[in-house]
Amino acid sequence: MAEPMSSTDPRQAVFLDRDGVLIENRDGYVKSWAEVEVLEQAVEACKLLSEAGYPIVVVTNQQVVGKGILTLEETEILNEEILNVFRSKGANIVGSYLCHHLAEEGCNCRKPRPGMLLQASIEHGIDLARSCMVGDALTDIQAADAAGVTGILVRTGRGVRQEPLVTEAFGSRCAVFDDMLAAASYILVSSGVQR
Ligand SMILES: [Mg+2]
Ligand SMILES: [Zn+2]
Repeated sequence: MAEPMSSTDPRQAVFLDRDGVLIENRDGYVKSWAEVEVLEQAVEACKLLSEAGYPIVVVTNQQVVGKGILTLEETEILNEEILNVFRSKGANIVGSYLCHHLAEEGCNCRKPRPGMLLQASIEHGIDLARSCMVGDALTDIQAADAAGVTGILVRTGRGVRQEPLVTEAFGSRCAVFDDMLAAASYILVSSGVQR
């Protein structure tokens, strides 16, 4: 007798950095709702990816906690408020991971380490080798690479300044796009979903 289709088959996902990809990056951290500037093309991009069946997982470094500027609770609440804007406009965000440690603590979750992606893979049954990660910094691409995920750089946020570093480290192995919407179009075309 044939095996039934398993709903637990590992699936493709799109990992997204938050600051500089979904919302405008702030050099002094995003500390309050007043400092949140949602990038409208990213809202559209998340909607398109979700309609095409891609679960979205957000992975963000928030040293703002480790530095004592915000509490973990304040940071988590602000993060949920940001993600809820995207959810309310059709984004299927299935997971959200936030590293609150300082760089010098040497945790396994802070990008460029792959801890958050690996944890998401286990908790949400994600096939890392068939997934991609969109970020605006070299550390995003390094975390993706360390997890076996395809990294994609966008030029929003820190992206323009980080592009030479990414090109030096990854060359043509890392595609670069002007923004999340262009990156999403590329993901959809690559997977055969025409838009
Ligand atoms: Mg960023
Ligand atoms: Zn961490």
